[in-house]
Amino acid sequence: MKLTSWGRYPRIEAEGSHFETTEQLRRQVVRDGNLIAYGMGRSYGDSALNERVVFSRRFNKILHFDPENGLVACECGVSLQELISVFLPRGWFLSVTPGTRLISVGGAIASDVHGKNHHVAGCFSSCVDSFELMLPGGEIVLCSREENSRLFRATCGGMGLTGVILTAVIRLQKVKSAYIRETVKRCRNLEEIFHCFEQYQKLPYSVAWIDCLESGDQVGRSVLMAGDHADTGSLDIDLHQPVSVPFDFPGFCLNRYSVKLFNRFYYHTRPASVEKRLVPLDPFFYPLDSIGHWNRIYGKGGFTQYQLVLPKSASYEGLKLILNRIAKQGLGSFLAVLKLCGPENGNDLSFPMEGYSLALDLKIEKKLFPFLDELDRMVIDYGGRLYLTKDVRMSKAVFRKGYPQWETFAELRETMGMKEKFTSLQSRRLEV
Ligand SMILES: Cc1cc2nc3c(=O)[nH]c(=O)nc-3n(C[C@H](O)[C@H](O)[C@H](O)COP(=O)(O)OP(=O)(O)OC[C@H]3O[C@@H](n4cnc5c(N)ncnc54)[C@H](O)[C@@H]3O)c2cc1C
Repeated sequence: MKLTSWGRYPRIEAEGSHFETTEQLRRQVVRDGNLIAYGMGRSYGDSALNERVVFSRRFNKILHFDPENGLVACECGVSLQELISVFLPRGWFLSVTPGTRLISVGGAIASDVHGKNHHVAGCFSSCVDSFELMLPGGEIVLCSREENSRLFRATCGGMGLTGVILTAVIRLQKVKSAYIRETVKRCRNLEEIFHCFEQYQKLPYSVAWIDCLESGDQVGRSVLMAGDHADTGSLDIDLHQPVSVPFDFPGFCLNRYSVKLFNRFYYHTRPASVEKRLVPLDPFFYPLDSIGHWNRIYGKGGFTQYQLVLPKSASYEGLKLILNRIAKQGLGSFLAVLKLCGPENGNDLSFPMEGYSLALDLKIEKKLFPFLDELDRMVIDYGGRLYLTKDVRMSKAVFRKGYPQWETFAELRETMGMKEKFTSLQSRRLEV
């Protein structure tokens, strides 16, 4: 079968099998050769790609819920969307959620995903109490902060390279409504948006759309969206996808002029300043999930997301340089997002560090990768790193500099036989 992930690059020939029971999974794991777990394929690059994969989506039962403390036990193939549809009407919502609900619980743990509230709530692992992990020999171990804590720290953010996460116990947060009190601010440049992030950092959620084609005085022109759960409004939610992109857009549709037009339109149609308006939770957290197959707008050749984070002390200077360089290159990105991250969590390969993160979607084209190599050097010089779940091209050297704990992670893989059993195109490229 042909296999790819959200960026639709690369596409490979792979053997894939579904599992519905632990026994079916064990048979796949103990077979000769290597494999990797595949959740909902929402990672952008090659972390879930391998010549042999196991699909987790049919292993998708919700096992238990404790309404006293919001702890839910479920199998790894359950999606965040399924958790929301079952628990939001009962007054519970995810404690940490990325910008899409169309991912599996296993994928959320393996990438240790973060959301708009990283500065106050940390990564997804902060709401994971425990999980069961299948190791190379097919044995199952329970991992938590107390039990097998070494495996817990390596698996959260470990990109499926320590084993297959089978079930997990995660903690939901109590909410009173399916609405958010949202504040929107237009900011003329990087200085203003940094100021706004600091000003609103007491609110649990904040994110900014950023115009990457502006430079000079207007570099970093952006729109901040911040908010908190509302205490009024119903708990009902409608999660259907009303619109879908029906075909691949031709490559020429996306160029610096179309993106510039879109960016101007977007910026000027946002309100200059609005405080605490009531908006439904779904478009606030998941604006793109209402458009099916939106990845087709980047054309047949696919796209990638370049996501970097810089330490706080270097963020202003570093981002100014990087954004000016991007604008000069003219590589337009409709989706460019800035986030404020909180402190690191001590997991081997979790991405966020205290500082600012920038993410841009970019169409794959000939001149892209050499240009991103140049950006990599700036990111490393400023003490930052790139996000593994978005990556499809980072070099081994950039990985090692960005993730100083790579060595202890690699040692664990070596000593526990994971290196031969759980591999992806990414792990082989990074030699981890
Ligand atoms: C529109 C959009 C918005 C996004 N926004 C954010 C965001 O705000 N923040 C953020 O952090 N990420 C974000 N992401 C990325 C996404 O959340 C992660 O890539 C997530 O891991 C995808 O989960 P998945 O189930 O699709 O996993 P896959 O893409 O299938 O796999 C991702 C990784 O998880 C591993 N994996 C999957 N299941 C298991 C398992 N059962 N056991 C062990 N390993 C497993 C895979 O081997 C692979 O390494 C976004 C993605 C999209 C498309």
